[in-house]
Amino acid sequence: MNNANNHPLQVAIIGSGPSGFYVAEALLNSGISTEITILEKLPCPYGLIRYGVAPDHQKLKNVSQTLDVIAENPSVTYLGNVEVGKDIQINELMQLYHVLVFTTGMTKSSQLGIEGESLIGVHPSSNFIGWYNGHPDYQSLRFDFTHDSAVIIGHGNVAIDICRVLAKPIDELRKSDIPEQALDLLSQSKINHINLVGRRGPIQAKFTTKELHELGKLENCSVAIHPKHLELGEKCQQELDEISNLIAKKNHRVFETYRSNFTTTPDTSKKQISIEFMLNPKAFQGDKQLQSIVFEKTRFEGPAFKQVVIPSNDLVEIPGGLAFTCVGFNGSQFAGLTIDNKKGTLSNINSRLINEHGEIVPGMYTAGWVKRGPNGVIGTNRECAQDTVNQIIEDMPEFVHQFAYGKKSLIEHLQAKNIQFVTFNDWKVIDAVEVELGQKLGKPREKFTSVSSMLACI
Ligand SMILES: Cc1cc2nc3c(=O)[nH]c(=O)nc-3n(C[C@H](O)[C@H](O)[C@H](O)COP(=O)(O)OP(=O)(O)OC[C@H]3O[C@@H](n4cnc5c(N)ncnc54)[C@H](O)[C@@H]3O)c2cc1C
Repeated sequence: MNNANNHPLQVAIIGSGPSGFYVAEALLNSGISTEITILEKLPCPYGLIRYGVAPDHQKLKNVSQTLDVIAENPSVTYLGNVEVGKDIQINELMQLYHVLVFTTGMTKSSQLGIEGESLIGVHPSSNFIGWYNGHPDYQSLRFDFTHDSAVIIGHGNVAIDICRVLAKPIDELRKSDIPEQALDLLSQSKINHINLVGRRGPIQAKFTTKELHELGKLENCSVAIHPKHLELGEKCQQELDEISNLIAKKNHRVFETYRSNFTTTPDTSKKQISIEFMLNPKAFQGDKQLQSIVFEKTRFEGPAFKQVVIPSNDLVEIPGGLAFTCVGFNGSQFAGLTIDNKKGTLSNINSRLINEHGEIVPGMYTAGWVKRGPNGVIGTNRECAQDTVNQIIEDMPEFVHQFAYGKKSLIEHLQAKNIQFVTFNDWKVIDAVEVELGQKLGKPREKFTSVSSMLACI
């Protein structure tokens, strides 16, 4: 399908995480004549595949190889080291392209908004994840692993990833692509006890069973749950008994094995992970440096599957000098577009972006996490991208009579502004050097952790 004047549909995709690539793939598969530019603020592509997915889960990161095939299609141009909103504005892009698709992800952690959150030692998950994954924006941060115990707030897979990085033997982590400077600090860790705390119960925890189970397999580490946490109330039992609630059932079986590890005299030669339920964080305490966290015990109200958490005045204090909050993410704001404050996404109606008056902005779309929120697995973004492309195709008659200059003019524009953009071939050079450096250290790659070092490489 061509547009009326046989000009290709010019599409700029902003963000090169999986969603950005999947939007490109769906456009290529749609039969439309199209030219696609993928703009990425970092020199390197892949978004959270490179900078979020746990470094000790390297197999998962191999999905980037399927994204390379998309990037290497002649109708696709990758331009890294170009930040939209800084190096080029949205209105400038709109003059060059028919369609902009925002796939900028959600990388900022949500805040709990409680007292003491800015104390030294309290870290939003995104900071720690970015740091141990070598993201250039987080390398100046410092984490103090000299404390005996750490507290992780949140009961999802991000919390488990952090827990594993803190609990895994350093020699195991050395086989991952955690940068050497982070490994050096982690190798000095004195953390022996990790509390993994959630405000709801075991049936409502968002862990996937594979990750939960993996925690119990860590060498020289014991995962325990106090037996009281598995004494279910009537509504929770109903939720567990529901035939379709498979993940809860599978998780519950793993929780039961962790219950059997519970003892009042733990083996101090091993690291201990305690999974705590029904505790809502109330305040971080300490004088500049975090010393403990106060939680209020919670209870449930309401029918099964619609139970809401009600905090009580019954307080519990958990000591610890290091805390990580894993309670959700937010997307970045762009001029002229609005953020859905509840979901942290770019406000959109069925993938079409809307302005502050709630009106659809013609030619602007979104896909991936920043469209629907931080949920699902990498493959979920593929369906999400296809859905977005379906809407673009539906709107095609609005664009067919216009001509757009696309990447040629964009490149001239970037050159005129002296912006050193990175092509996909340039990225492949960086990639090869990282892999080579890694091989010398017996790991999959040694990442460059600054933009300047990546650029110097090409
Ligand atoms: C800690 C963690 C672990 C995870 N582990 C797994 C896992 O094991 N398995 C799994 O299936 N999923 C996992 N996920 C989920 C998976 O990473 C996401 O589903 C996926 O990355 C979302 O893709 P996205 O393209 O929407 O966003 P992202 O991957 O975040 O990509 C967004 C891209 O946009 C770029 N960008 C942002 N702003 C701009 C701008 N202004 N201009 C240009 N570019 C910009 C960013 O640099 C980034 O490259 C994990 C997520 C996290 C946070």
